Amino acid sequence: MSNTRFSAIDILLNRSTLDMPYQDKPTPQVSSIFGQNVFNDQAMARFMTKATYNKVKSAISTGKKLDMKTAGMVAEAMQKWAMEKGATHFAHWFQPLTGRTAEKHDSFFDLTPGDGQVIERFSAKDLAQQEPDGSSFPGGGLRTTFEARGYTAWDPSSPAFIYEVGQGKTLCVPTIFVTYSGESLDYKLPLLKSKAFLEAAALPVIQLFDKKAKKIITTLGWEQEFFVVDEALYNARPDLMATGRTLLGRASSKGQMLDDHYFGSIPSRVFTYMRDLEMECYKLGIPVRTRHNEVAPSQFEFAPVFEEVNLAVDHNQLLMDLMERVAERHKLKVLLHEKPYKDVNGSGKHNNWSMATDTGTNLLSPGDVPGKNLRFLTFFVNTIKAVYDHADLLRATVASASNDHRLGAQEAPPAIISVFVGSQLTEVLENIIKGKSSQENVQKVLGLLERLPDLNLDSTDRNRTSPFAFTGNKFEIRMVGSSMNCASPMLALNTMVGKQLNTFYDDLQKLLAKGKKQNEAILSLLAKYLKASKNILFEGNNYGIEWTKEAKKRGLSNNPSTPDALQAFNEAKVKKLFSESGVFSNRELKAHYNTMMENYISRLTIESTKLAHLCYEYVLPAGIQQQSILAENIAALKNVGFKSSSIKAQMDILRKLNTAINKIHVDSQKLEKLKAKSHTNAEHHAEICKTKIKPLMENIRTNAEIIEFYVDDNLWPLPKYRELLFLR
Ligand code: ADP
Ligand code: MG
Repeated sequence: MSNTRFSAIDILLNRSTLDMPYQDKPTPQVSSIFGQNVFNDQAMARFMTKATYNKVKSAISTGKKLDMKTAGMVAEAMQKWAMEKGATHFAHWFQPLTGRTAEKHDSFFDLTPGDGQVIERFSAKDLAQQEPDGSSFPGGGLRTTFEARGYTAWDPSSPAFIYEVGQGKTLCVPTIFVTYSGESLDYKLPLLKSKAFLEAAALPVIQLFDKKAKKIITTLGWEQEFFVVDEALYNARPDLMATGRTLLGRASSKGQMLDDHYFGSIPSRVFTYMRDLEMECYKLGIPVRTRHNEVAPSQFEFAPVFEEVNLAVDHNQLLMDLMERVAERHKLKVLLHEKPYKDVNGSGKHNNWSMATDTGTNLLSPGDVPGKNLRFLTFFVNTIKAVYDHADLLRATVASASNDHRLGAQEAPPAIISVFVGSQLTEVLENIIKGKSSQENVQKVLGLLERLPDLNLDSTDRNRTSPFAFTGNKFEIRMVGSSMNCASPMLALNTMVGKQLNTFYDDLQKLLAKGKKQNEAILSLLAKYLKASKNILFEGNNYGIEWTKEAKKRGLSNNPSTPDALQAFNEAKVKKLFSESGVFSNRELKAHYNTMMENYISRLTIESTKLAHLCYEYVLPAGIQQQSILAENIAALKNVGFKSSSIKAQMDILRKLNTAINKIHVDSQKLEKLKAKSHTNAEHHAEICKTKIKPLMENIRTNAEIIEFYVDDNLWPLPKYRELLFLR
């Protein structure tokens, strides 16, 4: 039997271990390779004069611009370092709104003007600014065709690195991506602005408690979920190739029902891949630390030690890229899609977020010293208030066609934003709300908190259904999609918390001016904020239908679909938040919205087109072939004298196949007609996608699964779920 499916299985089963690299290579000591491809502190110190080094360090810590002369010296040092390591090219590495990364490669090689001597060149200008072909990246309307240029500009706060692809080595410079007039076309610039805004807002607040604190650092530790699948099987599934998910396929009978995958031993082939991937991460200074199986079969997770948010985002973007490239060596494909398989848990990305002082104090860490706990409570409660005020915005930042499959699907947090804090902290918060702002109450609340440190880690990690959970010493945002740029929710969270901290500080000054004691004043403000935002606190099961009802009563929004969720970007409150903080101008915000909306529409357009192709190329031919076999059999049986009553099974199956085939054809025609229609605007188009195209795709899928069920296994041409999920 030879069809695409069986050829793929053949390739997989006949793969020799020789095809699997690194099987028996010993793992090197991490310390011997960590950061070897990063232009880090050590490399800078070695290749720069002391004066240049100091200038660069101070520019990084203050965020001030470097002059062109110093940039020239940095470029020279970077080039020397990179060429010593064998790099031949350089690239500006940036994060367009597609969600992934892009780079434009140039050679160091050049000819001198006039005499045409060969030189290797990397100037201050090469380092500082480039002009990639901007028109092919989403701009959301910020660029008209006559001014389609986009510019990348060096971000000195994230170190340059050498990216190895096979024998090729490229010096990559992390950059922001902007229009001619400086408007952002990426995630990095608004992230950097939001980080600066938050850190500036948090500094006077921390100084209320700790006069020595000089600087605040926003931290992020992501957890990245993903699936792996054999490359041959992947190549036999045009839907996986084109859309990253299976558009049809019957759920495997094993599925995740046995729940035996989570923390089970990692299959050796995947283990070898993960080890190889980790080594590549270490070379690039990505501090990955944990790897384990996830709930679904063939699903895994990677998590690093947390870092400063800008660096952590860069590292996650780099990891997603590395995952795919390293997988090629192992004949595996990585699926970063939020929902590659129906009826199997999807993949998310958990963003663990906090703030710390430059001396390493975590601002969201409750301590055993009472004084420190008022500090903790201040940042904790202000974060809750900020999330309450801007829950819709936070929801919008993680909205996408692919994440719509997850949020609210009983496996991932719902589309309703609530905050989980654990039972001990709930008790503390209740006491704050109830209590009078007396010195006595300050002591009581702080007394309660003293018991926390031993208990918190364990008791706060239990509720896995919460979209925004406090987990002992950080908040964990669990609604982020696995394929997303972490920066999207981070830049919103930074901005809303920054604004809230500003409000808090101003409110406090007013109370202090009236002669209130600082501790009492702080506690009374926290009580006020908590009273206003307590509706967002929820400790129960976020998956339950009761919560949907309860949340509605509490007035919390529930926007399960992307086009609805994205409307938050158009709200006056959100425009004001972003423009006042300087993170997005109104024009930039609109462009951001447009891009996310267009992305939704094009995803659904591609998926529905692909689904129709799959049906006509694979599903219907297999179904029709099965029909012929049945029809022939029925005719033959009748011919030799069987009565209709004894060929009921064949007739029944034939009818079922026939009905499914006809329905798929009719629905596919409807899809074609819908897609041919023109639309007055993106909102209208998105509405059609959501209310017409998606349900049609669902119907087609259901009927395709009926056909898959009744067609002879030998005739079925697409790798089945049981193969995609269990063969490796
Ligand atoms: P687990 O949840 O698996 O028990 P941890 O709670 O230690 O493990 O960490 C989970 C994730 O949270 C990791 O990615 C880690 O880097 C991150 N994390 C831990 N502390 C912080 C922090 N202060 N700020 C940001 N992220 C953090
Ligand atoms: Mg987690």
